[in-house]
Amino acid sequence: MKHYFILLFLCFTALYAQFPMEKVSVKLQWADQFQFAGYYIAKEKGFYKDAGLDVTIQKFDPKKLAVDEVISGRSTYGIGRSSLLVDRMEGKDIVALAAIFQSSPFVLLSKKSSDIQTPHDLIGKRIMMTKDFQDTITIRAMLNSQNIGIDKIKFLEHSYNPLDIANGKTDVMACYISNEPFVLKEHGIETNAINPEAYGFDFYSDILFTSETEVRNHPKRVRAFVDATLKGWEYAFEHIPETAQMIRERYNAQNKSLESLIYEGQVLKELAYRGNSPLGSMAVDKFYRISDIYRVMGLPQNDKRLEGFVYNDNSRQTVPMRVDERSFLHMNTIRYTSTAAWPPFNFSTESNGTKLQGIAIDFWQLIVERTGMKSSYISSPTWAAVLDAIKTKSADITLGTSLSKDKEPYALFSKPYASFPNVIVTNKTIDFLPGLEALNGKRVAIGKGYSFEEAIASKYPNITIVSTEDTREALKLLSSDRVDAVVDILPVVAYLINADHHIDLKISGTTEFVFDVRMMIRNDYPELKTVVDKAIDSITPAERQRILNRYIAITYEDRVDYGWVYGITVGALFIISIFIYRQFEMGKYHKRLLKMATTDPLTGLVNRIRLDEKLAECHQFYQRTGRHFSVIIIDLDYFKRVNDTYGHLIGDKTLVNISKILSDNIRSIDMVGRWGGEEFMIICPETTSEGGKQLAEKIQSVIERNDFPYIHTMTCSFGISESREGDRIENIVGRADSALYRAKEEGRNRVCLA
Ligand code: GH3
Ligand code: MG
Ligand code: MG
Repeated sequence: MKHYFILLFLCFTALYAQFPMEKVSVKLQWADQFQFAGYYIAKEKGFYKDAGLDVTIQKFDPKKLAVDEVISGRSTYGIGRSSLLVDRMEGKDIVALAAIFQSSPFVLLSKKSSDIQTPHDLIGKRIMMTKDFQDTITIRAMLNSQNIGIDKIKFLEHSYNPLDIANGKTDVMACYISNEPFVLKEHGIETNAINPEAYGFDFYSDILFTSETEVRNHPKRVRAFVDATLKGWEYAFEHIPETAQMIRERYNAQNKSLESLIYEGQVLKELAYRGNSPLGSMAVDKFYRISDIYRVMGLPQNDKRLEGFVYNDNSRQTVPMRVDERSFLHMNTIRYTSTAAWPPFNFSTESNGTKLQGIAIDFWQLIVERTGMKSSYISSPTWAAVLDAIKTKSADITLGTSLSKDKEPYALFSKPYASFPNVIVTNKTIDFLPGLEALNGKRVAIGKGYSFEEAIASKYPNITIVSTEDTREALKLLSSDRVDAVVDILPVVAYLINADHHIDLKISGTTEFVFDVRMMIRNDYPELKTVVDKAIDSITPAERQRILNRYIAITYEDRVDYGWVYGITVGALFIISIFIYRQFEMGKYHKRLLKMATTDPLTGLVNRIRLDEKLAECHQFYQRTGRHFSVIIIDLDYFKRVNDTYGHLIGDKTLVNISKILSDNIRSIDMVGRWGGEEFMIICPETTSEGGKQLAEKIQSVIERNDFPYIHTMTCSFGISESREGDRIENIVGRADSALYRAKEEGRNRVCLA
């Protein structure tokens, strides 16, 4: 018996050995160095062979660009920078497979003795940089965002000789932080680097890519190649000296020293694992941000093209399902129903109601994709017919509604997949309205069946509500001055104002009523509810915004506090950047670039880059004048539980709500920003810690008393520190951090002074 097994085993190995290895190639984008260690290791250690691949590593050749080689089929895989996006936009069907470096090693290097530390120090200097606009985009965007005209700098032909910094042929050189600083150090020259990442221009680098043809025709091979390559990289980073030695012996056309290869490996390792991301990871959101920057810099971008750019092998992104859920989906085709008359959620621009589109439809399609369910559409002429279809179970789900008790006998509700404020529309001549109370004694038109009508009527009895056929009618009444205002949710009015050309109307204010959009499911389909909920959870903020951006483009009353609206509803930056692109003119947009670079997309608050700048400003002012400033760090208490219990969307929304409370309660001289995940910072210029404490305590009590949607209560802990003699910026932040830690230790929901 035993022999039989051995025989069988031998047969298998013999068969396996005869199975031909698949020949593929990968094109490098630079001369051999540690930058490609993962590929060498995967080959040398047999990781490719184990995956059934015979890989040729094709050397760098400046005349044969990786993109062209891959598109023409002369190379199977290639390595490129974030500028691959531009190639993709130009119609080249390439697909990004893995981003090896989470941040780009590309920096501007200078001699330490020339004291070039910030972009402003570059004015009047000579920089060696390639003319390639796409590849140097981070540097150009950084300069532009700092309002430094390209004409203020003298660009020189790149010599690729770092010693030219030493011998004065140039002041500055664009290069890789992983290489040139070491070479110069070997020659006894210390350097400074200006990194565009520190100014908000954070791009991927060394992106492994292939062609759409390869992905389509050899999906297994693609997966195998990526996995073996990442395994090679993991090994290389875990064994840097061994890998460096191997490169020196076998892949060293550049004749680099062992030490320089080790140095390169160490720097690149840090870039590969930056932000604790798994090796090779690519976030679609980040590509969207990069694409936005290209767009503002005048390189046309197209979302549709971007969508297919990031490799998705379908094995990773689908929603994990229980056995009962899977078999439920296997057995049933899900019939969804809606009207075609609720723009921009579900509507048709054809008179016969075909070509259904809208926010709700797009979310549904995403859910269908994620879950692999089969779905079919049942049209309903009216909302009453939709309800009836769910009640009689002639349809299984409808896509956009709010929670309502009276439907609970026959329907289940999904988690919300989007959330919108109800807003007030008035004539353009009306000033900013702080809220519904400003409409007391006025006539407000509301579409029939609008879900907040009752709530408004009972809370604001002095408002006269005029019921109209629908919101379209309501806006018409307003346009002809027969009512004073219209209230409905933001996307609906924004869409209708645009579509019906109500140039006389505008959104003048928001209300406290928030509309959470959910799907409604027939009540005997609990599996469908759990599957839909999971799929909703898997939707990232960027995907959500992308859908919303397709249907919402608005002009607001300037003083409407849209810090709040930003995060949830509008990819504001995105919309702004489309706008910019249309009227693109180099050099004028530094403010927008700067804003993109320093704004946190979720909350609309400033991000850490701007906070760091402000800290430096305050610190300098303190050193000059002795006037103290204070720093408050705020961390949400037990925030993880919110995510775990209510999902990420509600978690994000809570962060947005907290942001709003923070910005509403600081003084005009203070700055509040997002310091990290669920941590915020307030910087209070010319304020002692006593003053900071009063402010923090006020905010603490506002948050404690606030009724947050869904979660109702949330508290925060606060750590405060004040500038001290001889402080460095790190010290003052460090003390605020320790004080925060103490506030947590002592039971949370409290303010502690350093
Ligand atoms: P405590 O601070 O009171 O000690 O408890 P905590 O649960 O808030 O602590 P911890 O710092 O461990 O958890 C922070 C959580 O915040 C973890 C992370 O999932 C979540 N988080 C960070 N950034 C975001 C974000 O942008 N959105 C959402 N929804 N969650 C986030
Ligand atoms: Mg935290
Ligand atoms: Mg926390």
